[in-house]
Amino acid sequence: MYHDDLHHAAELAHAAVTSMTRFAIPPTPINFTIWYEYHAGRDPALSRAIDGLLAAKAAFTPETTLQLYEEFLNPARLLRASRETSEKLQETMDNLRSFVGAAEETARAYGDKLEHFSGRLDSSEPAPALGALVSGMLQETRSMEERNRSLEERLAETTAEVKLLREHFEQARREALSDSLTGLANRKNFEQTLTLLAKAAQDEDEPLSLMLVDIDHFKTFNDRYGHQTGDTVLQLVARTLSDNVKGQDLAARYGGEEFALLLPRTRADQAVKLGNNIRVLVSGRKLVLRKTSEDLGRITISAGIAQYRPGEALSAFVQRADGALYAAKREGRNTVVAAAEAPAETGV
Ligand code: GH3
Ligand code: MG
Ligand code: MG
Repeated sequence: MYHDDLHHAAELAHAAVTSMTRFAIPPTPINFTIWYEYHAGRDPALSRAIDGLLAAKAAFTPETTLQLYEEFLNPARLLRASRETSEKLQETMDNLRSFVGAAEETARAYGDKLEHFSGRLDSSEPAPALGALVSGMLQETRSMEERNRSLEERLAETTAEVKLLREHFEQARREALSDSLTGLANRKNFEQTLTLLAKAAQDEDEPLSLMLVDIDHFKTFNDRYGHQTGDTVLQLVARTLSDNVKGQDLAARYGGEEFALLLPRTRADQAVKLGNNIRVLVSGRKLVLRKTSEDLGRITISAGIAQYRPGEALSAFVQRADGALYAAKREGRNTVVAAAEAPAETGV
């Protein structure tokens, strides 16, 4: 969960301790985690909850902080939530099975009754008895309709429950695969998608390109304007990336201030064009701090691109893109570099 480098982590730790002192909160590990996360600002829901408490001048009692931890940070929570959901699903399936059983039972009983009536009709009873027979059949039919209606209602309720559960699962899945600061795909999502796309590229004999993007001199920017402003810049770069990809492309936050684009059916030279478009867009943005109208200057990005070689290990593929990114930095930054093509296969 924590990939912050030493400097960033030290800053967050310092901010956490300052806040705890300010609000007279005991610096227990749980409280430290809460305030570290608050200053890291990765979970907008946690930030909102704490900002709400601060605005209401609420006291940070041990109960309050434990509640915050349980709700937003306890890693066991997600597991528990998924276990509860799956138990609920099991219960719903059992319900459904019992409905089907009940419907079968009703139909069978009705069939037996009909057979019985038809047996009596065959035995040519006197005319007045026929009236009673028909009214008996009618009554049976009505009560069967009644039972079916109530089954239908219960079935509709259960179907609605299943729909809700599915939405629940979808939401949890989305959260588990996206980066909370930028809304882009997270590293895990990137890795899963890379595996799928590399296989597809190989099977379909189509190109696949990977672009790694890193913000230039971002440490200096953070040092000058603070991490919160830095985070806003990360969001801006993320949006520029996602606005400029389409279809099957994937934009991901790869690490702190590094991003990755997976570009199926795209050759390295096409990816270089896209990279340069994005690079020009980012460097063209004048950054102004909204609150104070302070001019923050501009930022630039560097990018490294590699095109997948069929059969290549995925780690080698990523390494080639990373090498190209490193070359772009060496060439003076604000540059896009593509990794060299594969050496021609000599065959054996
Ligand atoms: P270079 O041009 O060589 O990439 O220089 P750099 O300063 O960007 O590179 P370096 O890797 O030394 O520093 C990356 C910095 O990114 C360090 C840290 O301050 C910042 N950073 C990493 N993750 C985050 C984050 O989540 N939020 C903010 N605000 N800054 C971050
Ligand atoms: Mg970096
Ligand atoms: Mg950087």
